Amino acid sequence: MNLKLAEAYLRKAYSLPEEFWFAKWECFPKAGRETLYVEFTGGVPKILKSGPRKGRKTLRGIPTRTLIISTAEYQRIEADYIADTGNCPKCMGDGNEVSRIDFVSKETTWRPCVKCNGTGTAAGFEAMNGVAK
Ligand SMILES: [Zn+2]
Repeated sequence: MNLKLAEAYLRKAYSLPEEFWFAKWECFPKAGRETLYVEFTGGVPKILKSGPRKGRKTLRGIPTRTLIISTAEYQRIEADYIADTGNCPKCMGDGNEVSRIDFVSKETTWRPCVKCNGTGTAAGFEAMNGVAK
């Protein structure tokens, strides 16, 4: 599940405000079994005004919402995205995906998206994933 695509869907489906911040994602069931649904939890954060994390977002003391997308529902979201944009749903048309993030040097390494063979297109995605037309 592409979390960015799933979040964009939830924002629209639930008319979430622009400031809404997704802070937690959890797959169910647990323990290495195939995911049936993902829980997205977030809220409208406040910004910390002091302390070592000053300027960062927090949801502490703020009412949060947990929204669910099932794997079956996500298939439909993905199909709609492909129909609407003609883009690969994994890299969202970019053609690249993150291969590695070095948290020390802050360097991000990219590679061609494996789901569309770096084309960024729905056609590339369908060719790589055997999606019937
Ligand atoms: Zn792609």
